Amino acid sequence: MDEHARTGHGCSGESRAGLLARAERLCRERGLQFTPLRQRTLEVIAAETRPLGAYDIAERLSAPGRRVAAVSVYRALDFLTENGLVHRIASRNAFVPCEHSHHEGEGVVFLICRACGSVDETSSAEIERGLDRTLAQAGFRPASRIVEIEGECGACQGREERAGEKSSGTASRSDA
Ligand SMILES: [Zn+2]
Ligand SMILES: [Zn+2]
Repeated sequence: MDEHARTGHGCSGESRAGLLARAERLCRERGLQFTPLRQRTLEVIAAETRPLGAYDIAERLSAPGRRVAAVSVYRALDFLTENGLVHRIASRNAFVPCEHSHHEGEGVVFLICRACGSVDETSSAEIERGLDRTLAQAGFRPASRIVEIEGECGACQGREERAGEKSSGTASRSDA
């Protein structure tokens, strides 16, 4: 659970390769087929730092004269989601890669930045416990345990503050 904390989706090439290796291993272990479309769909998602929708993915997989239908991409996404290789961000109807293996029924918290569109995946034992209590009290059986929080990431808040300082001083220095 510790390695799960605060690892964003600002994928390095290494974690991308790691994700593909994990997908291959998992398919072998479970006797599932890692078809070329499933593989390429995962590659496209892993190469992106923002959540991608099925239509964006279909477009990236299509070549002139060889269109990949969104419905095929949706099937590949179902497979990848069921096997814990990607997550669906419900509020965006878009997908992000998952770089860790989750425990059964483990909750996930997504921090979604409205300014830059980045998504940070994290989990919290305290939120888990609180959620368990709340669900038990309500007698509610959850189909998923994913919490999505929209707002501004640390980097974007920093940019905003610097922009504020700049405009109050003498203008026209563009050090990013
Ligand atoms: Zn995950
Ligand atoms: Zn941001």
